[in-house]
Amino acid sequence: MRNVFASVLAARNVDVVQVESGCQALIALEREDVDLACIALELGDMHAADLLQCNRANQRGNVLPFVAITSNRDKTHVDAALAAGFSECFHKSRLADFETYVDTWLGTLSRKLSGNVLLIEDSVATAQFCTQLMNAMGLVVDSVPSAELAIDALSHRRFTLVVTDFMLSGLQTGLDVIRFLRSRDGRPGRTPILALSGNDNMSRRIEILRAGANDYVQKPVLPEELEVRLRNLITLAELFDRLEAQHEMVKDMAQRDRLTGLFNRHRLEELMPDLIANAHKTGAGLSLVVLDLDHFKQINDAYGHAGGDQVLIAVAAALRGTSRPQDIAVRYGGEELLLLLPGIDLPRASLGAERLRRHIENSTRTAFRSLAASASLRWRPTNVLIRCFAAPMLLCTKRSTLGAIR
Ligand SMILES: [Mg+2]
Repeated sequence: MRNVFASVLAARNVDVVQVESGCQALIALEREDVDLACIALELGDMHAADLLQCNRANQRGNVLPFVAITSNRDKTHVDAALAAGFSECFHKSRLADFETYVDTWLGTLSRKLSGNVLLIEDSVATAQFCTQLMNAMGLVVDSVPSAELAIDALSHRRFTLVVTDFMLSGLQTGLDVIRFLRSRDGRPGRTPILALSGNDNMSRRIEILRAGANDYVQKPVLPEELEVRLRNLITLAELFDRLEAQHEMVKDMAQRDRLTGLFNRHRLEELMPDLIANAHKTGAGLSLVVLDLDHFKQINDAYGHAGGDQVLIAVAAALRGTSRPQDIAVRYGGEELLLLLPGIDLPRASLGAERLRRHIENSTRTAFRSLAASASLRWRPTNVLIRCFAAPMLLCTKRSTLGAIR
């Protein structure tokens, strides 16, 4: 049985020290720098639980994971091992479970993290100790001794994680830092916070967690505990960020035309009420340029729909290349594209539209040589002068009505 479990570790390039008895195990645990102990519950010379208790007497033994291995299927036997303090208990037939356990354990040992941490700690020794530990995990650390300096840093920069002591130099405490950070909007307000404190006061711990700290570590800090809590917080924050990015991507996909990447009609309907309201409120113009590609049917007939798609992609790229960040380019349907120009009045829109038409003609001529798709452009401002063309009316209309407003 021993060889089978040892081979699981050796196959993962873990150095394995094998011993045959409880006494030999105690000597090895004393002499070797051990990261994981796998003990058979059925030892010849002592109970495995006694071995565990002997080793727990030193501080290192308190944090070392002890895994029990047994050939006994009796549930009470396993329960007794867990109650004695073993981290896990595997039956010899559950080799696959042991392999999964080892893979997870190795993963947390070796996975380098990335990110920057703001450490708020007034004790130089603790700050140095935590900084070294976090640097070894792959994290970049900025250390400040007071809440005032921390709040200043948090006002100007974003951090992956904040680790704060409670009692600090200066007038404010770690609680002020936590409250400041949680009062911020968006992602900065969600920065994970790990609190440290030398005072084992339950009501204070509860207050710190209530203020928004995600986790808490008691001083003196055990490196293994700090490391695993930091890993958990950062992993959770990374998962949340990934989920948020995916959500944004799905939202963006729902708002865009798949072929051209321009906004779709659905997004236009969402944006128009605010754009029109804003134009009325500020008195600034809001112009609408309607692009309808000429001879598009002939392009499709001559080059197939793939050719037509290429023309649309090139025109959309030209549209994006010539518009300002605040302009809104939309594929309204088929070969009809729209460009909304907030803050632009009719004369400026008409000049811009003619420039755009020439640009499209040139850029598509370059791309398709003789296949230049020239665009017919019409423009109308949806400002106070012609309110009847306000967007809700436009958007409810079919193509024929869209033609009528040109
Ligand atoms: Mg302190």
